[in-house]
Amino acid sequence: MKVHHLNCGILHVPPNPQAACHCLLLDIDGRLVLIDTGIGLEDIARPLERIGQPAIDAAGFQFHEPLTAARQVERLGFPTTAVSDIVLTHADPDHAGGLADFPSAAVHISAEEHTQLTKGHWRYSPAQFAHRPQWSTHHTSSEMWFGLESRPLLIPDADVRLIPLFGHTLGHCGVAVRNEGRWLLHVGDAYYLRVELSTDDHPVSALAAVRADSDTLRKASLSELRRLARHHAAEIELFGYHDCSEFPPDAAAG
Ligand SMILES: [Zn+2]
Repeated sequence: MKVHHLNCGILHVPPNPQAACHCLLLDIDGRLVLIDTGIGLEDIARPLERIGQPAIDAAGFQFHEPLTAARQVERLGFPTTAVSDIVLTHADPDHAGGLADFPSAAVHISAEEHTQLTKGHWRYSPAQFAHRPQWSTHHTSSEMWFGLESRPLLIPDADVRLIPLFGHTLGHCGVAVRNEGRWLLHVGDAYYLRVELSTDDHPVSALAAVRADSDTLRKASLSELRRLARHHAAEIELFGYHDCSEFPPDAAAG
């Protein structure tokens, strides 16, 4: 399996630094698995209808077609139909925008997140789901992973699991991927910036608290990530969605 770290979008609200949309693309002998989807082609074509001006302004959406997951998949030499599976940490507009560019993919999501989405929670953009994604919802599991609940996705020839890290949204999950004897853990928005692993006093912590559907659950999830970072650094590589500094040096970070 080959792992590509892709930056599939930029968010920028000056004077804050730019934020990335850090997606993973797993190449399993030419079959592709995309983890989170960034800002998509349809968002760029119809931003007001798909995202809306208030959210565009609040999050600082930037629209760059070459950064979309679809164009990056093509630049790597694959048709977009090679993406058989998509895994969503959660369904916020900056994570789900690329879904419509891969309409035939199975879309894995926690059952809790899917419930919030279908209930019409205000934070999600219905237009981004109007193409009717092929949902694969994942319910509570008794399996564990480093002390956390683990929901295996049963993707052939890959060990990929949803790891519930609720709080940012009520069904928000990290995504664990077994790779070369270690684990990658994409923590999604369980933190915005890596500095949150070591302090609660950074200005971004206040933003994270405001944006959380449950700040109590967010803090509990963050404390679990701190435990993993402290005790399992040799076995698990943690990274989030928005921290531009977390791309490997050789990544196509855009
Ligand atoms: Zn986000």
